[in-house]
Amino acid sequence: MNQVLDLANKELTFIPGVGVTRAEILKKELKIFNQEQMLYYFPYKYIDRTKFYKIGELSSNLPYIQVVGRFQSFQIVGEGRKKRLSANFTDGTGILELVWFKGLKFIVEKYRAGVDYIVFGKPLMYGDRFSIAHPDIDPVRDQAMPSAGLQPFYNTTEKMKSHYLNSKAIQNIQLNLISNIHEIIPETLPDEIVKRYRLMQLHDALIQVHQPTDAQILKQARYRLTFEELFYLQLRILQYAQDRDKKFKGYPFEKIGDYFNTFYHQNLPFELTVAQKRVLKEIRNDMARPRQMNRLLQGDVGSGKTLVALMSMLMAADNGFQACIMAPTEILAKQHYVTITVLLQNMDIRVALLTGSTKRKDRVALHEGLISGEIQFLIGTHALIEDTVQFKNLGLVVIDEQHRFGVEQRSKMWRKNAMPPHVLVMTATPIPRTLAMTLYGDLNVSVIDELPPGRIPVQTVHRYDNQRAKLYGFIREQVKAGRQIYIVYPLISESEKLDYKNLEEGFKQIKEIFSDITSCMVHGKMKSAEKEANMQAFISGNARILVATTVIEVGVDVPNASVMVIESAERFGLSQLHQLRGRVGRGADQSYCILVTSYKISEESRKRIDILTSSNDGFEIAEADLKLRGPGDMEGTQQSGIPFDLKIANLGRDGQILEYVRSIAKSILEIDPDLTKPEHVILKQQLRRLFLKKINWGVIS
Ligand code: ADP
Ligand code: MG
Repeated sequence: MNQVLDLANKELTFIPGVGVTRAEILKKELKIFNQEQMLYYFPYKYIDRTKFYKIGELSSNLPYIQVVGRFQSFQIVGEGRKKRLSANFTDGTGILELVWFKGLKFIVEKYRAGVDYIVFGKPLMYGDRFSIAHPDIDPVRDQAMPSAGLQPFYNTTEKMKSHYLNSKAIQNIQLNLISNIHEIIPETLPDEIVKRYRLMQLHDALIQVHQPTDAQILKQARYRLTFEELFYLQLRILQYAQDRDKKFKGYPFEKIGDYFNTFYHQNLPFELTVAQKRVLKEIRNDMARPRQMNRLLQGDVGSGKTLVALMSMLMAADNGFQACIMAPTEILAKQHYVTITVLLQNMDIRVALLTGSTKRKDRVALHEGLISGEIQFLIGTHALIEDTVQFKNLGLVVIDEQHRFGVEQRSKMWRKNAMPPHVLVMTATPIPRTLAMTLYGDLNVSVIDELPPGRIPVQTVHRYDNQRAKLYGFIREQVKAGRQIYIVYPLISESEKLDYKNLEEGFKQIKEIFSDITSCMVHGKMKSAEKEANMQAFISGNARILVATTVIEVGVDVPNASVMVIESAERFGLSQLHQLRGRVGRGADQSYCILVTSYKISEESRKRIDILTSSNDGFEIAEADLKLRGPGDMEGTQQSGIPFDLKIANLGRDGQILEYVRSIAKSILEIDPDLTKPEHVILKQQLRRLFLKKINWGVIS
């Protein structure tokens, strides 16, 4: 090969139809700087343009359609901003109205009477007629050209559209770019892989994806490009994991000893679930190696993660190490402290609690106990991170409810020892497997996919605002039966003021309606002491109704609370609703989650609410969420964001391909960890090209 085609070094302005202005817009709006990036800007959908309709057979719920016919007349209608051009277009079976709000003069001049045109667009019914606004129009004689077959659609921005860079324009740019390519676009996967997995050649795939011959070939082209995109991503992740494993040594916890066994045989109040046992085994195997464990423990609310954490801590103790749990709030830290102290009764283990409100005097003693090793388990909040908190030999850090902590804070915990302690991060926000595999890359994931026996599933119902009287009646009944009630209001930062007003008014109303019942309120803007006191009133059972914002979302355990009312439920995300629901259903009674919305909500909100009323399974809900919203918006991940952008793959849809290519990447690295074999040189080159910018996988570690 003497000259290799290098589109990455070719300017956009060399493409016919792309001048300096358009090139600037493409750079600004889409971050497309060269021809290669242009070619990798893929359509998000295709519309079949092989079928033609008759105007007489149009009905009101058709998607995009096309008809062949002729222009009858043009007229300008309306004045000022409402001024538009309207044309009558006919094929003999009826009349279709075509409308333009922009470029009126240009259009009148462009189209001729007596010529057959293909009109394409989405028909809407106005009165007794169909109308298409800003249709695509091609003369029939050009039919073989762009508009034939499957027409690709490209995402564009408002700014682009205002410069006539719409989907059609992008399509034309791609056509011009492709017809300018006279060499073969170099392959980016080893021949071996292309052959073995029967992939389309890159060159063909890149052309077909913009100019598909037919649906079958398009499918192969998209498969090839998706395969490649996910394959390199997985290869990168696995390589990173490999390096990390070499770099970070850890303390091997070789034995299971008295602490663990005593607890297991004497203190454990119930049988572990099969899932808990499996997860404990995974943790045990991981910590037994002289490598640092870096593991994510996922489990739906109430699945018993705390117990798994405690038993992992006992393994540390058995090997002569200290362990700690870090919780996101003081309430949760205290709750863990109480739970764990009770579970460890009669055992010779010193447990201490450290939070922001630990007194100075107590702190001094506590610091000493940690340095001397006398305190084995430390439970607390962010306060644990402070530099003054030093351990004798910290072996395991458990972080509860991962999404409340930042990367910085976590890595600080690492530096408490010469060798980093093992890390177990627990989260109740389930992340679908495909996403976890990609997002947390090198992190090992354990899943508790089973609830302890005997739980009565929470009944979830959807109620409208106007059914409030009935709702209040139900609350009264439940309180009479001895239960407690949560009422949650949304708090969304953009409209904070309004939200607080809603919350305060809601609370006032509750106090009026239930004047004979003690209620209290908590929200994030309260002074910490007041918040604590109110929360405590509810936990102790003095207050029967708690009006709150999502501050109660995480972890709080009041088994006697049996009703969760969520106001303006349409404003919460799916996973968040599920988290909130997890606050009830912890006791022996039937529990209820009541989603209150106004009558008018969007189709998507309705879908979300339907999913929730029909499923109690956090993973199922998370998968549905991923499909509805796309991974960029996933709760529990938006904080970290996806550290890369996908051009064609969709993690909600392409999970199977992801797992497939992951196993392929794995087997390659097993044989050739440094990718030094001649046939793998291309992999190494491609990785370097694709991941020039270092990806921050440090989401957890
Ligand atoms: P989460 O996973 O939400 O943190 P917790 O650890 O708070 O869940 O556990 C929820 C409740 O289930 C606790 O009251 C705990 O004692 C109980 N529990 C945990 N494991 C089991 C089990 N194997 N059998 C019965 N109850 C269990
Ligand atoms: Mg918990």
